Amino acid sequence: MKVLVTEELSAAGLALLREHFEVEERLGLKPEELKAALKDATAVIVRSKTQLKGTLLDGTSLKVIGRAGVGYDNIDLDAASRNGILVMNVPDGSTISACEHTFALLMSLVRRVPEAHAAMRQGKWRRDLMGNELYGKTMGVIGLGKIGAEVARRARAFEMKVIGYDPYLTQERADAMEVTLLPLKELLPQADVITLHVPLTESTRHLIGAKEFEMMRPGACLINCARGPLVDEEALAAALEAKRIGGAAVDVYAVEPPDFTGPLLSKHFPNLITTPHLGASTVEGQEKVATIIAQQVTRALIDEDFLNSVNLPRISKEMMEKVRPYIRLAERLASFAIQLQRGLPGESELAFEGDVARLDTEFIALGAMKGFLEQVVEGQVTYVNAPLLAREKGFKLATVKRQAQANYRSAVVLTLPGKAPLVLGGTVNARGEPRLIQVNDYRMDFPLEGRFLVIEHQDQPGAVGRVGTVLGNSHINIDRMEVCRKGQHQAAMMIITVDDAIPPRVMDNLGELDDVQRCMAIQIQ
Ligand code: NAD
Repeated sequence: MKVLVTEELSAAGLALLREHFEVEERLGLKPEELKAALKDATAVIVRSKTQLKGTLLDGTSLKVIGRAGVGYDNIDLDAASRNGILVMNVPDGSTISACEHTFALLMSLVRRVPEAHAAMRQGKWRRDLMGNELYGKTMGVIGLGKIGAEVARRARAFEMKVIGYDPYLTQERADAMEVTLLPLKELLPQADVITLHVPLTESTRHLIGAKEFEMMRPGACLINCARGPLVDEEALAAALEAKRIGGAAVDVYAVEPPDFTGPLLSKHFPNLITTPHLGASTVEGQEKVATIIAQQVTRALIDEDFLNSVNLPRISKEMMEKVRPYIRLAERLASFAIQLQRGLPGESELAFEGDVARLDTEFIALGAMKGFLEQVVEGQVTYVNAPLLAREKGFKLATVKRQAQANYRSAVVLTLPGKAPLVLGGTVNARGEPRLIQVNDYRMDFPLEGRFLVIEHQDQPGAVGRVGTVLGNSHINIDRMEVCRKGQHQAAMMIITVDDAIPPRVMDNLGELDDVQRCMAIQIQ
């Protein structure tokens, strides 16, 4: 498998990838070169410069796009999802770097370090540059996620009082952080320092504008190390001009690179500190991001681990560990069902019985969908595009949760409706291996992998021997066999796994046996 790397990735990240893949490191590709390089790549790792937009993602062999960083606005998520490509990022690789940069800016601002440094460089000894202490002051943290929480923790080390605004934060979490949660309009007039750590969304665009500057304490400082459009730059320039606020420090801008002729950067405000989006730019941060994305891409390709995927439902690492065996089980049950039924049904039901019903079952259902569609769709089917392909094919999968019905603490039961409905049940054993435990009214316990022969027949003496003879005469080795029956001399089913592929001629010979009603070969990979 080839992994294409189009932007700088640390040596440690590249080494991790090389343990498993052929790595092609090609920096600064032109669009047409990128298109050609993507054709036979299984994964591509980018930072923020490589534009993976539009038709570039059509017709490639890509399975994963790894973004070494947080934001992924350079990736066309719709096009990726349509093509079944998993997109993953590293949401917490730069948390500490961004948090520390916030403090670098804050300390520089309150102690006027850039002004002092500039004066020194001009040979001026300016002992008049008076600063402020942080001790005993109030910090208002807007957005108490990964970075905001770290900033709050460090603010407490400076013996600051920390208040916060985050409508999505639970009171328990705020208490654990020792942060007093307040509505924004109450936070603004109380804080000496206001620092932003929210994502950019439609509701956070211009979260801080003219009205908010009016509400701030005179002399308050604003730090924006999150995203530029959170602050109305014109209003910030006006607040600085009018000395409405004490100062501001900004790492991010409305557009980047910013408009140096715009209201904020064209004037020289002595109490404004600016850096060129350096929040994540530390050796340690970049190293962390590179190794984490290399690990994530490797695990996605080898173990189908979807941690930090941005176009799949969110799931925690712990939950993923629990559901992974059931995803595989559902995928195999669906594949078994469709081979047995020979065709995609209009709709099916997936039931989660017992303990498994208490897990996050969304991914398990995605597994079943993938298992169904792989048998009927040409091209790549993944957990990402399975729901879209299902809609296109008019296939619906209903899910239900219920108590354990059989002798198993957890079971997944797939039902395909029709004149003769097909019911397949499966479970996962203690080693996490999928087992087939039910086909219609028959109960069994069979590893759900390999080449199967399913034979519906009449229970009578010699039936097993006759099937064995046909297989033996054709040099087909039996691995395991179970005979399930409704009762003596009644309808029965043989489930057999064999070592070798069964040629059509042998299937015909088996079908011609007097006591065999139906005979199907199924392969589960
Ligand atoms: P996060 O998702 O962990 O936390 C965001 C927090 O904001 C969450 O707690 C959420 O509940 C809260 N939030 C969402 N909408 C809100 C609203 N309308 N009002 C108040 N709170 C709201 O994100 P994070 O990793 O902590 O990143 C925070 C910001 O920092 C993001 O904008 C990210 O892009 C930016 N960032 C910048 C740099 C840089 O180089 N300057 C580096 C990394 C991250």
